[in-house]
Amino acid sequence: MRQLPDLSTCAKEPIHIPGAIQEHGILIATDTTLRVTHFSENYPRLFPAITEGAPISSIVGEESCAALLAFFAGNNAEKYFLTKVTAADREFPCLVHKSKHTYIFEIGLHGLEEGGESALLKRVNRLLAVLSEAEELDYLLSRITVTLRDFLNIDRVMVYRFDENWNGAVIAESRKEGLPSYLNLHFPASDIPEQARSLYQRNWLRTIPDVHYSPVRIFPDCSAGAAAPLDLSDSVFRSISPVHIEYLKNMNVAATVVMSIISNGKLWGLVACHHYSPHFLPIEIRYISEMFAKILSSSIQKILLVHHSKHTSFGQELLNRVNVNILKYWSVSKALLEHDPDLSELVPCHGAVVAENGKLSVSGEVPDQRFLMSLFNWLDENQEKDILFSNHLQKDWPEAVIPESASGILSLRLGKAPHDYIVLFRSERIGHIHWAGDPYSKNADASGRLSPRKSFELFKETVRNTSSKWEQHEIEIMLQLRVYILEFLAFEKIRLETLVNEKTQQLSRTLQVMEAAKGHAEQNAALKSHMLASMSHEIRTPLNGILGITHILAAKSHDPEQKNYLELIIQSSNRLLKTLTSVLELAEIEANKKDIKIQECSVDPLVEEAINILQPLAASKGIAIMYHASLENHSCLADPNMVSQIIYNILGNAIKYTVKGEIAISVSAVIMDQMKYTSVIVSDTGIGISKEFLPRIFDPFTQESMGLGRRFEGTGLGLSITKKYIDLIGGTVSVISEKGKGSTFEVRLPWKKSR
Ligand code: ADP
Repeated sequence: MRQLPDLSTCAKEPIHIPGAIQEHGILIATDTTLRVTHFSENYPRLFPAITEGAPISSIVGEESCAALLAFFAGNNAEKYFLTKVTAADREFPCLVHKSKHTYIFEIGLHGLEEGGESALLKRVNRLLAVLSEAEELDYLLSRITVTLRDFLNIDRVMVYRFDENWNGAVIAESRKEGLPSYLNLHFPASDIPEQARSLYQRNWLRTIPDVHYSPVRIFPDCSAGAAAPLDLSDSVFRSISPVHIEYLKNMNVAATVVMSIISNGKLWGLVACHHYSPHFLPIEIRYISEMFAKILSSSIQKILLVHHSKHTSFGQELLNRVNVNILKYWSVSKALLEHDPDLSELVPCHGAVVAENGKLSVSGEVPDQRFLMSLFNWLDENQEKDILFSNHLQKDWPEAVIPESASGILSLRLGKAPHDYIVLFRSERIGHIHWAGDPYSKNADASGRLSPRKSFELFKETVRNTSSKWEQHEIEIMLQLRVYILEFLAFEKIRLETLVNEKTQQLSRTLQVMEAAKGHAEQNAALKSHMLASMSHEIRTPLNGILGITHILAAKSHDPEQKNYLELIIQSSNRLLKTLTSVLELAEIEANKKDIKIQECSVDPLVEEAINILQPLAASKGIAIMYHASLENHSCLADPNMVSQIIYNILGNAIKYTVKGEIAISVSAVIMDQMKYTSVIVSDTGIGISKEFLPRIFDPFTQESMGLGRRFEGTGLGLSITKKYIDLIGGTVSVISEKGKGSTFEVRLPWKKSR
């Protein structure tokens, strides 16, 4: 859409203090004591004797003066006091109003014809009857244009409605046969500048009986040393701005009557009546027309209100269903986009986006993700209120390339967090405006002053990049929806907080129970270890005694059978001692009594030491231990004694459970979960472990073959102690084994974070 020319110079013209009136009336102003202060130059036509300072009662009479003072002293909704004056043996109507500390008397030179009152009353009756019979706006407006044209006996009556930018359109018209139609034509806002609109808002009626009038000056004017020019805002004969007169002349209009239509305190439109020859309106008719404008305004307001409340109650019903869906599906986006009624039913749109906590849910025709992101950024900066709507986004956001699907948007801001919005999209609707004359033409006179356009010929404009308008009731429904959503989100927040609180309490109760259980377990373990320690002491002392005596007996005995028995006692006692030592070790670990000294230690020498100790045992069974010392040093962070025990145990088992073949042992570095470990792998070609037993291999007192048929001597405690050590130092152990083929144990000892 193109930019309309700026006629703001016209908007600065002080039209309320023109210092002149139109020539079809006489103006006399008085101070509050009703003594004359100003008069229009044409006063001698009726009151040749009046002078400045004279009492106005000499013209209007004492009785009228008293009545008007009483009128203005009261709390009067009426602005004008209607009276009569007698001059040159005739009566003339006189309208009085107050402007600050001045009374302004305006005497109409054109009164009703003799006896015209009764005919007038009939016409008024007809006019007012129309207002009560219509319930639809279009019908009402089409009826009043016809009736009003008849009442005013005027060539053309139009109803002119303002849009939100103060451009106007003729929405109803009645015209004399032969005149061209202005129906549906648009007029730019500059045709009625702002200060004219504010006078329209203030006065219900303005008349120009003859555009070719010669202005009649009021004196004294301010240039003659008066305090201030007379404020003629409410004057009925006020002289009209020359720009406006020129405008009407360009339109070939000779006389106008313009009524204001005010709805909800705001200028909604005008009833503009044109006549193509001079048309004088007696003050009485003027008075009635003003009354008509007020009643018409309230009739229109009533119809608009009914229309609005129909939409609102329908929207409210849909909104209630949406609200139920929000609670039913416990999700704003699901309720608004996936269920009936969805957003597009609530407020007609082509697409919608719900953005919550950075999550986008979309439905219908919406722009791509990249555009949406930049739109949210733009909204973050530009949307100051809860709602932002535009039916021409390209105009409001000129830097962006707006896709066709986002020609119009309505955005609801959900919270303070950025990017939390509900946005409705409307696609482009190519529009056509029929202007009365080219509104873009700039007419300037020789001095550069902008003047009204000369031609009112139809000018067609195609409007692109715009969508249909967002209606007031749609905006209200969306604002109401926002309230529902915020209530839901607040409720959801409380629910989540309560849930978190409950879970936290549950967790702390569980923790308390676990703490208590741990305490009990620790107590039990301490008790057990104490009992085991004293028991093993109690057993160890006599057992050592038995061993000592048995050794002496064996040394002294020469009887081979006896010697054999004694040797058996020694072996059994040694085994018992070994078992006692292991039981004690396990109990100490479980009671957390084991002293751990974590330090950096080299694994390779510990492996070599274990091999050296166990080598003779392996050799005695004909088993070779294969080990290739590496040049690299492998360290770990652990207790060296424990590492030593671990290696010794696993290598010892490999020798014990291997009958023939060989054992391989290797040390290497591995990385697991970004941690560096030193891995010790021991493989044997021994008896292997069955699939069934493998999962229990680290349980205490468990051996694959138990009871008397057992081939291998052992306590079933070695691996469980080994596993406990490994856990204590933060390492891992794993086994791969196949019955009859051998086993491979791998121990990983912690080293450090890998880079
Ligand atoms: P034990 O003192 O009986 O050797 P451990 O706890 O060291 O007790 O081992 C538990 C059981 O695991 C053993 O009895 C044996 O059945 C099995 N086992 C351990 N190491 C091996 C291995 N290298 N080959 C076969 N079986 C093994």
